[in-house]
Amino acid sequence: YNIKTVEEGLTKIQFPEFDKISSEAPVFYNPHMELNRDISILALQTFQKQENQDINICDLFGGSGIRGVRYKNEINGVDHVFINDISETANEYERHNVKLNNLEDIEIFQHDASMFLRMHRGKFDVIDIDPFGTPSPFLDSAGYCSRRNSLLCVTATDTSALCGTYKEPCIRKYNAKPYKSEYCHETGIRILAGFVALTLAKYSKSIEVKLSHSTEHYMRLYIEVKKGSKKSDECLKNIGYISHCKHCLYREQNKGLATSTPDICPECGEKLIQAGPLWLGDIQNAEFISKMIEESENKKLNTKEDVLKLLESCRIEAKSPATFYDVHKICKILKISAPKLDLVFENLEKEGFEAVKTHFNPLGIKTNAPLKKIKEIIKTL
Ligand code: SAM
Repeated sequence: YNIKTVEEGLTKIQFPEFDKISSEAPVFYNPHMELNRDISILALQTFQKQENQDINICDLFGGSGIRGVRYKNEINGVDHVFINDISETANEYERHNVKLNNLEDIEIFQHDASMFLRMHRGKFDVIDIDPFGTPSPFLDSAGYCSRRNSLLCVTATDTSALCGTYKEPCIRKYNAKPYKSEYCHETGIRILAGFVALTLAKYSKSIEVKLSHSTEHYMRLYIEVKKGSKKSDECLKNIGYISHCKHCLYREQNKGLATSTPDICPECGEKLIQAGPLWLGDIQNAEFISKMIEESENKKLNTKEDVLKLLESCRIEAKSPATFYDVHKICKILKISAPKLDLVFENLEKEGFEAVKTHFNPLGIKTNAPLKKIKEIIKTL
């Protein structure tokens, strides 16, 4: 193999060159994940400042070691970084990349991810789970081993399961029913967050989602883990279902794991479909995201422009409803041509409703206006 060198942030990384991005590569590196890693730098730095003490970080699926090495190199107040990967070749390059950046206090391990977490229960302030495909098999160990007030970062690349392209894998991996809709990336993230909450609840732990985003082929969650059975019971009140009408686009949310969900659409009488159990609580924390945006001024990030665009959008979404409407989809149902998106926003606001864009879909509108009202407004435009 030729050796490839890349630079992200302030860090230089080397690994064997491979002609496609694949789990078959001797050492995995995906350039499309740079934005994900840049955002992680800001999230972990914000978390470190919030904790106001040095933090220990676990990069559970190291690959080339790019996350762990960047975390030590680019975040202030990091004590030790523990990089783990089941592959020996990955370990070799992780060691090489630590040296390449002249870093100390990074330890490299070769274990199965769950074994590694269980060997170090309660040790990490941050656990970063960045596996191939689904994080689902590792969340029990994360739930058992994560400490009070720690940060849990989770990537999922099995978006076709979470978004409902295929139903069975979602049921298998997340014990939840998905459905494909114009807002399926949001229901997907909510299914993932709900599954994390339900898994952590077994260990009397609860979640607070600080930031979540769906970008290209993956979803990413930043979650603060709290301890205590009372808090955990409270947290589970955010688990529920979304019912959706494919005929008229009506949807409603019902909180509660064992709640009954409506079968028939109250607006048009057609059958409703359900997604869930999923997380109906907050999936963005405006205060945390604002601090991340501030933090970006102190960091060198190659994708900064895109990072800021995404973070602004997530911040604005923080207080909006759990689904959104797609104007083109509504127009298709009304059999009319689509008006300019800005006009729809203007008119909703003129009538006293809140309406914001969403990073999940460029044609999406998150609004507290009822569907009937939105249709009424669109018809006049
Ligand atoms: N975090 C890396 C990055 O940002 O470039 C990418 C990690 S890659 C998606 C997943 C890594 O997990 C691979 O390097 C693979 O060798 C490793 N892996 C697969 N199964 C594992 C397991 N059960 N335990 C630990 N590591 C595992």
